[in-house]
Amino acid sequence: MLGLMQDRPLALPHIFHRAEQYFGHKQIVTATATGQTRTSISEWAQRVRRVATALDTLGISADGRVATFCWNTTAHLELYLAAPCTGRVLHTLNIRLFPDQLTYIVNHAEDEIIFVDRSLSRLLWPLTDKMPGVRHYVVIDDYGDCPIPDDPRMLDYERLLAAAEPFAGEFVIEDENTAAAMCYTSGTTGNPKGVVYSHRSTVLHSMISLIADGAALSERDVVMPIVPMFHANAWGLPYGSLLAGSDIVFPGPNMTPHACLALLAEHKVTVTGGVPTIWMGALPLLGDYDLSSLRTIVCGGSAVPKSLSEAYRQAIGIPILHAWGMTETSPIATLCTPRSQHDSMTEDQRANIRARQGQAVPLVELRLVDPASGEEVPWDDTTSGEIQAAGPWIAREYHKGEGGGVQFTEDGWLRTGDVAAMDKYGFVRIVDRTKDLVKSGGEWISSVELENEIMAHPKIAEAAVIAIPHERWMERPLACVVVKPGETLTAEEVIEHLKLRVAKWWLPDAVEFIDEVPKTSVGKFSKKTLREKFAGYTLPSAEA
Ligand code: ADP
Repeated sequence: MLGLMQDRPLALPHIFHRAEQYFGHKQIVTATATGQTRTSISEWAQRVRRVATALDTLGISADGRVATFCWNTTAHLELYLAAPCTGRVLHTLNIRLFPDQLTYIVNHAEDEIIFVDRSLSRLLWPLTDKMPGVRHYVVIDDYGDCPIPDDPRMLDYERLLAAAEPFAGEFVIEDENTAAAMCYTSGTTGNPKGVVYSHRSTVLHSMISLIADGAALSERDVVMPIVPMFHANAWGLPYGSLLAGSDIVFPGPNMTPHACLALLAEHKVTVTGGVPTIWMGALPLLGDYDLSSLRTIVCGGSAVPKSLSEAYRQAIGIPILHAWGMTETSPIATLCTPRSQHDSMTEDQRANIRARQGQAVPLVELRLVDPASGEEVPWDDTTSGEIQAAGPWIAREYHKGEGGGVQFTEDGWLRTGDVAAMDKYGFVRIVDRTKDLVKSGGEWISSVELENEIMAHPKIAEAAVIAIPHERWMERPLACVVVKPGETLTAEEVIEHLKLRVAKWWLPDAVEFIDEVPKTSVGKFSKKTLREKFAGYTLPSAEA
């Protein structure tokens, strides 16, 4: 027997029309290089409708990829809705990628158009010849001073909107499984992989921002997503805010702690979210701003140290809400809100709970699996295993079928590459990572790629890169280098060699010369042994 309820698609047009109809009077503020812009949701919705028409006029395919290369801004939110509500696929490009990765991703996704903030466009112009499929570059003038090349592919966002009639009807996406957005994730080895979100997954994930045991977004909130909109949908905060009818504040290009804190105070922001590096940087300045309106700080992307959360609790009266997830999980998979069973604990014990990644949010299922035996391990808070995840907003495969088999189990669960123990209530405590990556300030550095670039040096026999804990960036790379017999080399020479090959922020903070890279029984680099060898290592930059 089947249920007899209406089968209506869970699709982004609902979020758009709901915001337009019920919350037209609410505000979106964006900090710009010269001041602030204020847009009502009604005005924003009209602009979304204009972008929709413009995409048609420009001849973007019915399911064409619409890329963005933007800060967190009102215009970016226009594209967040205009692309998927017209059946196209929003592709948020990570502005921190370096050129080869960026061109690979744009070509792999088959982006037809890129909307780019003028202040960031300098990074794109040298690459246009390597992205032959991109037919239009639309420059959003965010008061940047970057010159715009004289090229027929270059268009101006405001002129495009002015020339477009607002789309008059109702947006309709009939099949909720239609792709809505995509985001690439760094592969440990090989190329980045495309995660493709559907309308259904995005709508369901947006609801998580509204749950009472999470950020609990409501119409009364003022939400400021500091976490980039180019990184895993800014954790769902933009769509969640529209759904709830919250006012929104976007930090724009200036992400310094002072600028962010000033916005939080000025606009009486109630809910915000950002990676630990942001909150670490802001910590010494908290006393300079009135943050009394703030009730929730969502933080994840790297482990939130107990000391950081406690410092916030002591300084402004609220601890940090710890979240865990990944691009493949949309990204919210767990949230750490202490529960009634924690009420009888001491404040210090509760702080230990908050330092955990938390409990799976509704509709997400987690299990811990022993990588060697493939068997599930008990939730006894001691035995650890790889976290595997399943749920309606968890990826089941990558774009163009890549990476299948490695990242996904035979029974369809996602292998996260994070190793954790869980207590009997399912509160996750991440203890390790099988992914060979360094996570610096919320963004990935591929150890393997860095090693390959180091080993390209003619005097180097082998090299291994490991993550060293760092107070500000959470992790920074240490390069362990073996010099070929009879050769001599300095750390400076290694860094000079790398400067031409990798992004500046990928450069190792230190180089240690070792006799040999330890190997496993099958001859692979044993990062575990190396990490043990350098446990407690202090990076020179951390001392400064
Ligand atoms: P995001 O940075 O948005 O979480 P990514 O896909 O770039 O998404 O990175 C996901 C990975 O980051 C996780 O698999 C995990 O290794 C790490 N990570 C994310 N959140 C946490 C957390 N709260 N604690 C520890 N590691 C985390």
